[in-house]
Amino acid sequence: MKAIYLLNWRGKVYGEATTDFVQAEPFNTGTDEDNCPACGGPVGMWSWEPPLRVELETWGSHFGDMAFGPGGDILISERFKDLWLKSGLMGLEGFDPVEIVKVVRRGKRFKDSPPAYVRVMPQRSQAALDFVASGMQWVKPPSPRCDVCREGGIKKGWERIVLEEEPRENICTVRGFGEVLVDEHFKRFVEENGLLNCPLVPAEEAAHWF
Ligand SMILES: [Zn+2]
Repeated sequence: MKAIYLLNWRGKVYGEATTDFVQAEPFNTGTDEDNCPACGGPVGMWSWEPPLRVELETWGSHFGDMAFGPGGDILISERFKDLWLKSGLMGLEGFDPVEIVKVVRRGKRFKDSPPAYVRVMPQRSQAALDFVASGMQWVKPPSPRCDVCREGGIKKGWERIVLEEEPRENICTVRGFGEVLVDEHFKRFVEENGLLNCPLVPAEEAAHWF
């Protein structure tokens, strides 16, 4: 199986290009949700609908080529987008323009203005998390458990990330796991292009406890 990595925006290791965002008003969510074909339960989160307006927060001396916020949306810089669209890699959708209404600089003073960002969403893969091999622990396990969507329950945390099968996508979420995963091709893409603020942790080391 190809190597898998957790896109570790929760890790909060403040780097030279750590960049976060929060949605600014008006914050509109979609009214449609996806439902599991097997159990009918909701899958994923509410969508964030245009106009997409954000407040950026930076912690280093550069703006990231990725910026992370609440929910599953990610901002990528125009440069990331152009390279991505030429790369042949797959797993991102959206590419919606974002308006920056405020920039808060928490780190060093630096004068660069932020790059143009677009909003992307990692696709939901058909691949699934292996709860047992991942050492998943529950505050409240899913009940009843649906083996198709694997939604529900409250997670306490996990020891590592083990998938049941290899995702086709180079960046995605998988059934049973809302965190964003990437593969070795994605890792090479960010390294070869020197893209900033794409923190990756190998799946076997990606323990997390809430
Ligand atoms: Zn289901």
